[in-house]
Amino acid sequence: MSEGSRKVRRLALGSIAVAFAVMGLKYVAWWMTGSVALYSDALESIVNVVAAFAAFMAIRWAQRPPDATHPFGHHKAEYLSAVAEGVLIVIAALLILHQAANALLAPAPIEQAWEGMAVNVAASAINGLWAFLLIRTGRTERSPALVADGKHVMSDVVTSAGVLAGLTLAVTTGWMVLDPLLAALVALNILWQGWTVVSESVQGLMDGAIGGEDLATIKRLIGENGAGALEYHDLKTREAGTVRFAEFHLIVPAAMSVKEAHDICDRIEAALKAALPGIAIAIHVEPEHKRKAGGIALAG
Ligand code: ZN
Ligand code: ZN
Repeated sequence: MSEGSRKVRRLALGSIAVAFAVMGLKYVAWWMTGSVALYSDALESIVNVVAAFAAFMAIRWAQRPPDATHPFGHHKAEYLSAVAEGVLIVIAALLILHQAANALLAPAPIEQAWEGMAVNVAASAINGLWAFLLIRTGRTERSPALVADGKHVMSDVVTSAGVLAGLTLAVTTGWMVLDPLLAALVALNILWQGWTVVSESVQGLMDGAIGGEDLATIKRLIGENGAGALEYHDLKTREAGTVRFAEFHLIVPAAMSVKEAHDICDRIEAALKAALPGIAIAIHVEPEHKRKAGGIALAG
């Protein structure tokens, strides 16, 4: 296993521990105050524990090498986890909306408000630092599950900030309705986060093409390393978690030997793998009468 993969697994495991610690602190904050807003914030962190566990399982699964039944690898497991996580984020938002509605109908007095809020602030500070670390590492290691987990944790920090602001206003003004109203606004923001995570993952599950800059690199490298070949066409690319795939047809003179054509393919593959580590390439060699309208001419 590569150092990067190990780092992703360590962070995913760490997320479970952090989620448990933060959940504990948030329950203490609720228990001290009896505040409905702090209760809903603690409720949301149960979803976090489940989600961190799901992300860890998905990353372990995604990193398993290809086998007889999954010869292209298990990379898409990460997208499945990210979709599940997005759904959990949406459920958390609905739970908070439900709590906010209850608090609107029956406002309750809050005890030890400042002490309880201080405990919640400590939990949120841990969450914020952890979310930053998850998103940054997830981006550099190309792990959608880790980025999704980080965004979820970051959405918790936003929730808590909203809840604390509402609570501060409610306690200082005595107008307790403010507290559930702000919590409801924060829940709407979480709904948006959940939608973003789900739609990005669905893009990966649907075999979305490699993005603009990397695609331009692929085209440029085929052009620069295709000497001897005449044309290429039907270039298709896709991304699955941490790996990228590219395939195309390469037109060579009909009389060229298999060895010569294979040498050209090896040259192109080596250049692409050097520029885009881990890319899987399949090249279909064809004689010149298979040229196609829209094919890209090579220098020859
Ligand atoms: Zn063709
Ligand atoms: Zn070969």
